[in-house]
Amino acid sequence: MRRLTRKYLFWAALCAAPLLAVYVATLIVGRPPAMAQAGAAWIIFGAAGLGIAALLTFVIVISRRLLQPLDDLAATLRAVPDDQLAPATSEREIAALANALETLRAEIEESTRSRAYLDRLIASISDAILVTDTLGTITRANDAAADLLDYQRDELLGRPLQQVIDVDLESKARPGELAARSSDGTFLCRDGTAVPVSYTVAELRDGETIEGWIVAAQNAAERRRVENRIKFLARTDPLTRISNRMQFQHQLQQNIARARRSRQCLALLYLDIDRFKDINDTFGHGSGDRALEIFTQRILAELPEGGIAGRLAGDEFAVLLSGFATQREALDTTTAAAGAILASIGKPFRIEAQEVFITSSMGIALYPRDADNVIDLLRDADAALYRAKRAGGNCFELYSEEMSNDAVDRLMLKSKLKRAFERDELRLHYQMKYHLGTGRIAGAEGLVRWNMPERGLVYPSDFIPLAEESNLILQLGNWVLNRVCEDYRSWQRSLVAPSRVSLNLSLKQLQQQRFLEQLKSILRAHSISPTSLELEITETTLMDDAERTIQMLNALYAMGLHLTIDDFGTGYSSLSALQQFPITTLKIDQSFVRDVAIDKDDASIVTAIIQMGHSLNLEVVAEGVESKAQLEFLRQQGCDYVQGNLFGDPMTADAVLQLLLDEASGGLQHKRLFA
Ligand code: C2E
Ligand code: MG
Ligand code: MG
Repeated sequence: MRRLTRKYLFWAALCAAPLLAVYVATLIVGRPPAMAQAGAAWIIFGAAGLGIAALLTFVIVISRRLLQPLDDLAATLRAVPDDQLAPATSEREIAALANALETLRAEIEESTRSRAYLDRLIASISDAILVTDTLGTITRANDAAADLLDYQRDELLGRPLQQVIDVDLESKARPGELAARSSDGTFLCRDGTAVPVSYTVAELRDGETIEGWIVAAQNAAERRRVENRIKFLARTDPLTRISNRMQFQHQLQQNIARARRSRQCLALLYLDIDRFKDINDTFGHGSGDRALEIFTQRILAELPEGGIAGRLAGDEFAVLLSGFATQREALDTTTAAAGAILASIGKPFRIEAQEVFITSSMGIALYPRDADNVIDLLRDADAALYRAKRAGGNCFELYSEEMSNDAVDRLMLKSKLKRAFERDELRLHYQMKYHLGTGRIAGAEGLVRWNMPERGLVYPSDFIPLAEESNLILQLGNWVLNRVCEDYRSWQRSLVAPSRVSLNLSLKQLQQQRFLEQLKSILRAHSISPTSLELEITETTLMDDAERTIQMLNALYAMGLHLTIDDFGTGYSSLSALQQFPITTLKIDQSFVRDVAIDKDDASIVTAIIQMGHSLNLEVVAEGVESKAQLEFLRQQGCDYVQGNLFGDPMTADAVLQLLLDEASGGLQHKRLFA
């Protein structure tokens, strides 16, 4: 009914419009003109009227169009059953309509604004953002996502999310399992390249309804690179690139656990480079590092399959061999591997154009035979290593139970050694030195022994290293010096000029601040001339702190003492290094002399040392001479002096005196040997 009334009103207004237009035009232009001018004037009036009519018609049509949605809205509202509508008067109705319209407009405006806002927000985020619908089809993506995946942004829209998330993660991307979970994963680029990402997937919800998913991802390549680097550094020794102590112990722990579960055996090999300090001291730390690298490469080259190598500290390394079904198998494989590793390590290599040899000692312990946990297994392998070192190095030892008693013994021995001085248990024996050309006595070397009541005579190799671990060596050195002086003094009472007497000095003694004064005061106390005394310093001691040692040796030399390099050939002294020391004698280490008659290499080393010594105006002594063949070889090479068991064991001071007296009265004790 209301609609019908509106229609009549509309058409009435349309018909009335031209009349109204003429009337308005008359009001504007004035009274109708005289009939004489009627023609032109009416044309003007008519046109104005028609123009205004057209304008009004236009206004009405437009307003009708505008009102149409309102009409429709009202019609819809009217279609709603009356009981659902509040009884409304027409004013209320219009107010409600206006309200509905306003709300609608505000919502449209709000949603347009928030969508634009959302777009701007997504675009501004530096993380890659992908929005999907409930089926996982991408509906929005920002530029960061397009960059990350190497697509144009529009190309991403409409694709299934699974296409850019690596297959492994597909299960994660299934709706329902995605709820705001942050993971590390891999996204796939357009060309199939995998990009490491860390990403979060969250549900887009409207109340209870899931409307889709939003995935935010970050390129994690750099972070993962840094993480991997940190992990690598925390677990790896940077120089040798094998496991460090922490990591090795961790691996050992894991392997022990595995061996326990599968009832298998494993072996731990503990390695230490023999006299590594010499390499550092002689060639510098750069070369020391190079030697460690070579050492590592050689271990790795000989490592049986599945073996693990680690660097535990400076020159200490360890190897883990696992997966042995029986103890027998473990022993066989491990000893074979240990032999191969030692042989490979022993091959010469070059440092600064010099040929260098390194050897290593090795201790081996087995799980479960020797120990069932990391700490005990390491301790046992270390005890076996100690034994290998004591055996002279360049060998391996398998752990045995008595070795753990060794450590206890060592402690006991130390405390006993302290008391040995008070109890007067130390002895000094002398080993004679002979002039090779004449066979005459050329000197005597003092060698300390410990006469332990419960053990008998103990040799220096069993207690000097212990004494060197503490300051006991200083006390021992002083004791020897006093003893030598006393003995020499007593020989002097029977002989005008007993031959020179030598004694061995250890590094710690030489490093003492007041060593020179002490020595002088002892010599003075016994009225011994420094020229009667010879000091033997090992090659390695000499090189330890060369600059300081040179000063000390110069002072000793100036006093008139003779200085000898002991155990020559075991260090790495170069000719030029030797020239800086004021030494008078070179003593060739007995390890070269031992096989000089049967081993070509040793023969040429000894020959070279003799020649080199002579070219530096040094006298050369060969120690450890045990056979006539060795003596003959040394004679041919022009060696100056010899020392060794061939001429008898080290003897007491009284026996020395007897020998000296015999010789003084014309007897030549080893006449036949030197003939
Ligand atoms: P060293 O000074 O090189 O002494 C030579 C060692 O070789 C001595 O061992 C000697 O008994 C042994 N020897 C000599 N000739 C032969 C031989 O023909 N065959 C064999 N197999 N061995 C031979 P010793 O007395 O056991 O001394 C070992 C080392 O202990 C000495 O080596 C020396 O470095 C050190 N030492 C001995 N006495 C002292 C001391 O009073 N003070 C210090 N600091 N060290 C000492
Ligand atoms: Mg010596
Ligand atoms: Mg020696």
